[in-house]
Amino acid sequence: MDLKHWKLERDAQDLAWLWFDRAGSATNTFSTEALRELGQVAEHLAALPPKGLAILSAKENGFAAGADIDEFTTIASAEQAMAFTNLGNEVFDKVAALPFPTLAAIHGFCMGGGTELALACRHRLMDDGPKTRMALPEVLIGIVPGWGGCKRMVPLIGAANALDLMLTGRSVDGRRAKKLGLADAVTPKRHFANAVRMLLASPPAAHRPPFMAAVTDWPVVRNLVASMSRKKVSEKARQDHYPAPYAIIDLWKDFGGDVRNIPPSHPASMASLFAHPTTRSLIRLFKLQDRMKAFGKEGGEPVRHLHVIGAGAMGGDIAAWAAFKGLTVTLQDLAPDRIAPAVQRAHALYKKRLKQPHLVQAAMDRLIPDVAGAGVAKADLIIEAIVENAEIKRKLFAGLEPRMKEGAILATNTSSIPLQELSGVLAKPERLVGLHFFNPVAQMMLVEIVEGPQTSPEVMQAGQAFARQIDKLPLPCRSAPGFLVNRVLSPYLMEAMLMLDEGIPAEAIDAAAKDFGMPMGPIELADMVGLDICWAVGHELQRPGRPSRRSCRRTSRPSAWARRPGRASTRGRRARRRSRTAAARWT
Ligand code: NAD
Repeated sequence: MDLKHWKLERDAQDLAWLWFDRAGSATNTFSTEALRELGQVAEHLAALPPKGLAILSAKENGFAAGADIDEFTTIASAEQAMAFTNLGNEVFDKVAALPFPTLAAIHGFCMGGGTELALACRHRLMDDGPKTRMALPEVLIGIVPGWGGCKRMVPLIGAANALDLMLTGRSVDGRRAKKLGLADAVTPKRHFANAVRMLLASPPAAHRPPFMAAVTDWPVVRNLVASMSRKKVSEKARQDHYPAPYAIIDLWKDFGGDVRNIPPSHPASMASLFAHPTTRSLIRLFKLQDRMKAFGKEGGEPVRHLHVIGAGAMGGDIAAWAAFKGLTVTLQDLAPDRIAPAVQRAHALYKKRLKQPHLVQAAMDRLIPDVAGAGVAKADLIIEAIVENAEIKRKLFAGLEPRMKEGAILATNTSSIPLQELSGVLAKPERLVGLHFFNPVAQMMLVEIVEGPQTSPEVMQAGQAFARQIDKLPLPCRSAPGFLVNRVLSPYLMEAMLMLDEGIPAEAIDAAAKDFGMPMGPIELADMVGLDICWAVGHELQRPGRPSRRSCRRTSRPSAWARRPGRASTRGRRARRRSRTAAARWT
């Protein structure tokens, strides 16, 4: 057999070892060619059965990341979408039908099609490390687990548990997967060879969910579980905006979890989902995120010690997040009682995310309150997150720089102050970079990496790499007013404020935005960000001579409300008033 993406070996005990090693790629993904080859291997093994089969990954980073997204995005028609879906199903069905014990040995990420292949095996063995995660995240790109994931996961762990994973796209580690019944055994990867031999020599009975979990898939209970799931989903997104989660519920309830049973005209069919604009947007988003990840690929030595100054809403949470991600973090503020709430929030985060007491304790040990600022001299990176006041920040920087170690980087989390207004007090202004996190830090993936006129390219690159090191998405941008996000957001918020001025009720403005698909209305958003922060950003954007003032006006479009017939006079009035009111509102 001539295989490009797989390597098949048979050992002395007549066990077959199949290694997935996608040619020309650092990550295993399923292209048409890789799927076809797997089908050939399954046919070959069915004709000459070994005593057992283990499927493993030859890649360092994980088992498999799912369908090849590049191939996936070239799909142009419903027929092509169905052909790709059918191929995956046929191949994984062949694996599932093999008449001898089969086992997927999983390390690193196991996503989408990777999980569906693992589910097509009779057993699963998982590495016990924190980087090993299994998920069916198709919903996040607007589709459903279409290669048998739905139909195979439900009987294994029950409908409610499977729906929870499929509707959120949430991943589970080995320990949680074992508890749920997705994995038969969990062991460090270095023990895989022995564990595979033991499991294939005496395979455990196929997992069955406990009674309470199994009940959720009984025909009489199914309608109730489906309607409860729909209700929960509808609290997050409307079906016309985001059809995939609703399609997953239909797929399970009405079509036995097999997409091939769904008529093409049904809204849950692969053809309908592929054609939906939300799916296209989500796929684009996925690819853009990949591009952002690439910004952080190079950056020299990773940061080991982070020092954060300012333990408020932002600094406290940045410090907590970095310690969660394995860094040693010293957290400074003016007095211990200012740091205490941040430490409490960190503890709550670790308890929620890490669960195991020894891991929570280890993360807490990495987060060190440091009122005296002893960490300044040891830190590779210092992030300033004190009050949004240029004078106070400058004073802090002037005292800080002489105490920083050679080569250390200084970062500011300022939302609005141009870096050049802060770097003047520094002997080495090239070491200052903006690391603009968003609130709430634990949930917001984006970090703007802000380049001042004097920031050195190495420091920019290090800032981008740091964002990746703590699992955030770096967005490099210049130190222009509003950076990028606030520059995009401000015209939208501004328009909402102008409408409010014109007497339109806040509730109506927010309802219109939500109706359009925004998760939250602009008035509620401004309130959540904090009117003081909005004020500071607006003030920065409308300062005379700022390029953003012009671009802000240019990008500000009349809202749908304003475009309604009969509103022309109001629109004209608004345009005239815009410059006056903008200043009044934001400053
Ligand atoms: P905050 O008021 O919650 O916290 C500021 C903290 O800094 C306080 O605990 C204060 O005691 C401390 N502090 C002040 N001067 C200090 C000094 N000289 N030394 C040590 N500590 C000092 O403020 P925040 O909302 O966390 O914002 C902090 C920075 O982050 C600001 O620059 C802000 O623009 C930026 N930011 C805020 C948000 C947001 O949503 N709040 C989002 C992104 C960026």
